Amino acid sequence: MNTLQPCPLFINGEWVTVKSGATTPVHNPSDGAVIAETPLCEADVIDQAVAAAAAAFPRWSETPPVDRARLLFRLKNMLEDHFEELAQGVTQEHGKTLTEARGDVRRGLENIEFACGIPSLLMGQSLENVARGIDCDSIRQPLGVVAGIAPFNFPAMVPLWMWPLAIACGNTFVLKPSEKVPLSTIRITEFARQAGLPPGVLNVVHGGREAVDAILKHPTVKAISFVGSTKIAQYIQSTGIAHGKRVQAAGGAKNSVVVMPDADVGPTATGILEAAFGCAGERCMAGSTAIVVGKAAETVLPQLVDAVSKLRVGPTDRDPRAQMGAVITRQHADRVCQLITQAAGQGAKPLTDGRDLNVVGVPNGFYVGPTILDRVEPGMVTMQEEVFGPVLNVARVESLDAAIELANASPYGNGAAIFTRSGQAAREFRHRSAAGMVGINIGVPAPLAFFPFSGRHASFFGDLHLQGRDGVAFFTQQKVTTTRWFGAGEGSIWSDK
Ligand code: NAD
Repeated sequence: MNTLQPCPLFINGEWVTVKSGATTPVHNPSDGAVIAETPLCEADVIDQAVAAAAAAFPRWSETPPVDRARLLFRLKNMLEDHFEELAQGVTQEHGKTLTEARGDVRRGLENIEFACGIPSLLMGQSLENVARGIDCDSIRQPLGVVAGIAPFNFPAMVPLWMWPLAIACGNTFVLKPSEKVPLSTIRITEFARQAGLPPGVLNVVHGGREAVDAILKHPTVKAISFVGSTKIAQYIQSTGIAHGKRVQAAGGAKNSVVVMPDADVGPTATGILEAAFGCAGERCMAGSTAIVVGKAAETVLPQLVDAVSKLRVGPTDRDPRAQMGAVITRQHADRVCQLITQAAGQGAKPLTDGRDLNVVGVPNGFYVGPTILDRVEPGMVTMQEEVFGPVLNVARVESLDAAIELANASPYGNGAAIFTRSGQAAREFRHRSAAGMVGINIGVPAPLAFFPFSGRHASFFGDLHLQGRDGVAFFTQQKVTTTRWFGAGEGSIWSDK
């Protein structure tokens, strides 16, 4: 029996072990072993975390932005020093390959780097002489206690989208990582503690719906940053708003990759393979539907099928040659297989089929092999639902117009990509795409930290997105001051000037 890794809370600068109450297991998806137990916190624990954050706010918000930035800079250096260890931790609790885990940590680190620029990012605007002798300026001030609720699929990156920028802006934070992958957050928080983060500035709680509800309804929490599935994102937005909070809620996705007949065959096949099967398809920016136009079906598709059938699926924590890992839980693996079966029953043609994959040596791992479903139609289940697994739909159409129409028919609006050599087709696609993040010869057009992560429709609820200047605006409120200074006797009703 494995020794379980500790899964403490972090409240007011102290690690707190929960000794009783309900828990949920954290698995290593590569072999199915339970590696930790996440406590499912209730409202009393959320109260303590929020109280610690509220007590820390007056002093932290008065800390000069340049000092807040220095602290984040120290944290960044510590995370760089422990980069490999962090990536290994991500691989262990999530199942993605070490290369993918390094990407997860790197993208997170870039958000800390962005937050280190907070003195410039917080600068306001000013205008002299808005009226004669009167000046006007705006400044940005923090909101107070803010909270973040994260999904399982990027254990390092998504929490780092949230709290570093929020605290850089002067807020204090309550973070609830996914109960399925709490361990990366625990490691990163320990580095934040060692970097000198004052008690109460960042607090970490664990749990599921009950913990989330307590955060959503807590009167002291001013804003909520959420990333997860669409159904929960909608719930977070409506409940958060009903309780007077500012909310940004990123939801699920279903992203199309359009392949034009003139696309470069090799790089396009590689781009689609990476977009569909990278992180075993558990990405909100996964390219889960390839829309092949005309003869692209004869050029790109055979090369893609060949490459996908050679993908090595395995335990990413021990097999450095594994190119794709397991999915997050046994239930999720079963659901993905069920959706493949349903789509096949509706007429989709499996070109590769990952349902019965056995990975030698790890019979209890949560594996689904990479699956390509050809001749998929809009009404089929894998076109309607976010599968969030290694399944690629292939839809065949005859024109760019038809491809755009099909891509835009999705209720989601995170990403969309086109592979082509034609600037005109690319321009047309970018202009008409209903998605908020567009890739041109890039399969996963996920923006880096200094741009907003700009999903639309059922992929995002709110106004200001995560990351970039949108993130700064989300975590601050503006104050506009209008100023007049009088000379001696000036402005007086007794003055004859
Ligand atoms: P999820 O919605 O199941 O969980 C997300 C968070 O919500 C977790 O912290 C979880 O504890 C909490 N939660 C779950 N059920 C809840 C409930 N009933 N009430 C209140 N809170 C609840 O998502 P997941 O499975 O962890 O993550 C995968 C999803 O996240 C996918 O849909 C993916 O597309 C999406 N995602 C979106 C983005 C984006 O930027 N749009 C980025 C990453 C992931």
